[in-house]
Amino acid sequence: MSESTVLKFGGTSVANVEALGRVAGLVRRAQARTRPVVVVSALAGVTDALLAAADAAANGDAEGMRPQLDALLERHAEIAGRLARPEGANVIGTVLERARGEIMNLLERVAGEPERRPALRDEIASYGERLSAALVTAVLVAADVPARYVDARHCLITDASHGRATPLLPDTEQRTRAELAPLLDRGLVPVLGGYIAATLEGVTTTLGRGGSDYSAALVGAAVAAREIQIWTDVSGVLTADPRVVPGARTVPSLSYAEAAELAYFGAKVLHPKTIQPAMDREIPVRICNSHSPGDPGTLVTAHGEARAGAVKAIAHKTGVTVLQISSTRMLGAYGFLRGLFEVFERHRTVVDVVTTSEVSVSLTVDDVASLPEIVAELRPLGTVSVESGRAIVCVVGEGLRTTPGIAARVFATVSDINVSLISQGASRVNLTFVVDEARVREAVLRLHEALFERQGVDLDHAAAVAP
Ligand code: ADP
Ligand code: ASP
Ligand code: MG
Repeated sequence: MSESTVLKFGGTSVANVEALGRVAGLVRRAQARTRPVVVVSALAGVTDALLAAADAAANGDAEGMRPQLDALLERHAEIAGRLARPEGANVIGTVLERARGEIMNLLERVAGEPERRPALRDEIASYGERLSAALVTAVLVAADVPARYVDARHCLITDASHGRATPLLPDTEQRTRAELAPLLDRGLVPVLGGYIAATLEGVTTTLGRGGSDYSAALVGAAVAAREIQIWTDVSGVLTADPRVVPGARTVPSLSYAEAAELAYFGAKVLHPKTIQPAMDREIPVRICNSHSPGDPGTLVTAHGEARAGAVKAIAHKTGVTVLQISSTRMLGAYGFLRGLFEVFERHRTVVDVVTTSEVSVSLTVDDVASLPEIVAELRPLGTVSVESGRAIVCVVGEGLRTTPGIAARVFATVSDINVSLISQGASRVNLTFVVDEARVREAVLRLHEALFERQGVDLDHAAAVAP
């Protein structure tokens, strides 16, 4: 199986007839060189619509969701009618009819079974990827690609934490190989939905929003792919979020560490967990634009590019909450930090940035679901303050390790913006700090200007930012 390549297509890459036509072309071309495994997201907007329907149904109005459901199923039928062969379109028609009944049934159960709501939401959301994978299979077959639908829930095995399940790696690897190897050996092209998985007992789970990238990486690791390709709507990882910095440019190469930091601190183009499975197996990850396949995109490998300069890209993440715990009992005491972090562990809340002084610990979280309980449990440890509406800015580049003066330059650029929790990650490929959410766009724009736009800094020779 060593020469397979995973091609993952995100929501906008499978959004409509034109986009799916391009996908068929890309898979067909890939087939000439490698054995493709295709991982797809739900059609753009479908996961949002299904989850919104599930939430609305919780108030008892499942029937009221029918028009939205009909509309999203119709989108699939229309594409099948245009791009699949007649027999393929018929199969999709049957699949959609069955899904309509099943989804309505699930929506009706949401209100009456509050304790099962997280599981029902996952089951409802899973139709997005299940239907898009069935549709893409039919479209590929019509384009003479020997595609086969594979239920991703038979491959990706997770724990039961609905909405953000954690893969059980040995089971996932073994089952993915068992499902895919026979198909690949016969020259067939497996098509799986991303984002969805199942517990060992077969209960449907999901990997968290944007999780299809992670699925692609897990599948790539399981089949020892030679490359994992993430096809999206931008030409690779850009120097900043293009929604904030319209002039952001493609970063040609990144190391795993750089890509992981960027993804973790807000570069939505990659789900934060995508890099780990690829890194474990040293599989290159390529991020490409399905709307403009000729663009070079970004290649993520163990080393990135040796000659790369100091700063590669800037990521940012809003909706961050800062907690500060102050206590003189920290002084000279051991076990204090352990006790503190155990509180977060008990509530399964991830801490992103941490800074400490002699008498206080500051940290950030973005999941505030358990915040009241966490604060209550922290109170015995010291005075707790909570500030919401913050944002993390993260400047990333392997060159930060060795380039003096970068921090000074970064902070001079945002000198009139209040900055807190300054931290240089242990990997020393990132410089991270917290600002008020209201000023984060301004901070990112200014940093981008200072680090990438002045004096025509050429990204390919980004050493221009190095001394
Ligand atoms: P997909 O549906 O293909 O998974 P996503 O919407 O999840 O696509 O991710 C792609 C989007 O990520 C881009 O359209 C862009 O708006 C956003 N994005 C944020 N930061 C970056 C970045 N540094 N580089 C590229 N895209 C980014
Ligand atoms: N469809 C899922 C979502 O919208 C997963 C993904 O697109 O990666 O979150
Ligand atoms: Mg995505």
